[in-house]
Formats: sequence, C-alpha cells, structure tokens
Amino acid sequence: MSKRDYYDVLGVNKNANSDELKSAYRKLAVKYHPDKNPGDKAAEDKFKEASEAYGVLSDKSKKENYDNFGHAAFENGGGGQGGFGGFSGADFSDIFEDFFGDFGGGGRRSSRGRNANNRGSDLRYDLSISLEEAYSGKKQNIQFSTSEKCNTCKGNGSKAGSSPDRCSYCGGNGKIRSNQGFFTVQQTCPQCAGSGEEITNPCSDCNGQGNKQTSKKISVTIPKGVDDGTRIRLAGKGEAGVRGGAAGDLYLFINVKSHELFKRSDVNLFFEFPISIADAALGTTIEIPTIDGKKAKIKIPDGTQEGKQFRLKGKGMPFMRRGDYGDLYVKVKTEVPISLNKEQKDLLERFRKIENEKSNPSIKKFFQKAKSFWNN
Ligand SMILES: [Zn+2]
Ligand SMILES: [Zn+2]
Repeated sequence: MSKRDYYDVLGVNKNANSDELKSAYRKLAVKYHPDKNPGDKAAEDKFKEASEAYGVLSDKSKKENYDNFGHAAFENGGGGQGGFGGFSGADFSDIFEDFFGDFGGGGRRSSRGRNANNRGSDLRYDLSISLEEAYSGKKQNIQFSTSEKCNTCKGNGSKAGSSPDRCSYCGGNGKIRSNQGFFTVQQTCPQCAGSGEEITNPCSDCNGQGNKQTSKKISVTIPKGVDDGTRIRLAGKGEAGVRGGAAGDLYLFINVKSHELFKRSDVNLFFEFPISIADAALGTTIEIPTIDGKKAKIKIPDGTQEGKQFRLKGKGMPFMRRGDYGDLYVKVKTEVPISLNKEQKDLLERFRKIENEKSNPSIKKFFQKAKSFWNN
C-alpha cells in the first residue's frame, strides 16, 4: 500500500504555517482519538496516520527532508545505511504529549523547551565526492555549525558552585497530568521542559541553556562503494541535547559526481570505446582504463561488430561492506575514418573492388530482401 501524502492526510496545502498544521491535526486527533472510538480500527489508523503526518510536518528538519525527498526520506537508506528510521510507537506518544502540552497547562515555552525528551536536532551535511573516491573510500574532515555542550557549566546550565533546583511547577517529575475534555493526558512540564529542574543561577556563558553554538570539525569515513544518494548516519553527532537530553544524529548525504569516462549503474561501470574499422576487421589487442587508475587489456577478435560488448569481471565498483566488486562493461563503437590521404583512398578503392559478398553477409541479406520486395 502506498503511503498518503502527509499534506493530504492533514488536508492542508504545502505552504500551511505551523498554526494551520496544528489546527488541522487537532481536528483529526479529536475526531479519531482511540478513547473516543473504542475498538474502531479504522479510526485508530486514521489517528495514527494523522499523528505521523503531524509529527513530521511540525518538525522543521523532518519537514524539510519530507519536502525534498517525500516518504523516501524516512525509509531505510541506500545499502542498509539506517536512513531516518521508521516511526515507532514511542514517537507517537511523544508527539501526542508534545502537542497537547501546547494547549494544556500554563505558560508556553520556547520551541526547544517543548521537545519532550530534550533530544538535540538531527543535522544534514551534503558531501560531494568523485567516482574514484567512491571506489576507494576515504577519510574526510568536515566542518559545520552546531550546538555543543557548554564547557563552563558542563551542560547543566547553572553557574559554577550552584546547582539546579527541583522544578517548582512539576515538583521534579518533569511531567504533569491534566484533563483534556474526554481524556487525561500526561504532558511534559512546560516549566522545565521535562528535565524536572529549574535553573535559578544561570551560567553566564550559555545563559542557562547548557549548550552553545559552535563550529565543529570532525573526521568522517566514507566507506568504499557509496553510491550517489547514500545517506550515512553518524549517531550522536548532531546537535547536543538540552540539559541531559541525548544528542541528535548527523546525516551525511553523499553526492557522487558524474565521471567523464565511466558511467555507473549500481556496482557496475560502463563506457563505449571507439576502434578503427581496420582493428575491428583484422582484430587487435587494446588497453583500456579501469576505475582503479590502471589499465586492462582487451583482445578484439577479427570481425568484431559495432556494439559488441565485453565484460571485465570484478573491474566495477565495490559492494559496500563486502569484499567483492561489480563488473566493467565496455562497448565497441567503430569509427569510420575521415580525412583520408591519397594512399588510404587508393587502398580503400582497391579494397572495394575486391570486396566479396562473403565479407559482408548482412549487406547481402538486406538486398536480397529488398529485391524480393521490389519484385512483388
Ligand atoms: Zn553554560
Ligand atoms: Zn517541571
């Protein structure tokens, strides 16, 4: 079953702002909530579908990925690279809590504080590499802007010598319960964003956030065999979590630049190479390039026809995380000679005179068919 478009699910257009998204989701959530439709599987599915759509579209980075890649953004990535992961049950409850937390009890917090589990944001980094680099794999330093744990306060947000108090709003639980008409929801404490703590004496370096914006440099390993569009997940390398929350993940989006010689399809490589009509007719041995920078010899048998393909086993791209390689396919393209000098012309004229039908069986066959067509 193909998945419905998230915007269609919520019945909003692509430019809907966060208030429109929220109100569309609220309507559906109230209508299809399982407490209101006990035992109704269809309602439950609708509820889940709407929650999933809202979960993605209400999250800036997830929405951006969805707008760019559609549902594929959340499927497992190429070559089993983890991808963005599915939508687990835990996510539903988080979103639900998060959502109702919004119009539940007092005091709206910043968008960061609203995040129920204080997890840092995922980041995306686009990396362009050459086909040769995809072949051999490489280590590369990348630099990007992110938020990191504040060193001064070690991430707890409090000035040195002081420590956070228990949150006065939730008593340190991080959660509060409230009634939303027909059901009771447990929601993240809006005061402490679920940490259960209250910063009374904020660290002056990070204003009590526990995190600071920095430019970070890390070394990443690009495994050999990556393909264009491969996503590599670096767990915990995204933005730092807020006050004890887990760090987000960093996703490397690999772009493999096109090559002037080799064309790639999965693990196989292709190219066409021209040979002279003399080489095609008489046969020869030629050297062709391979992606590892070396040469391979191909024996062209006499009478090789245009379009003849040769397969060089194991001369393609590596399979990711396997020891073996794809193949290289090369195709013959015969080049009819141009700009002939007098001697070449004379020789070809002589050749034309002594050409016999046995040497060109398809020409003979074609004109036999043509003759019988004219005669009918
Ligand atoms: Zn600090
Ligand atoms: Zn609290």
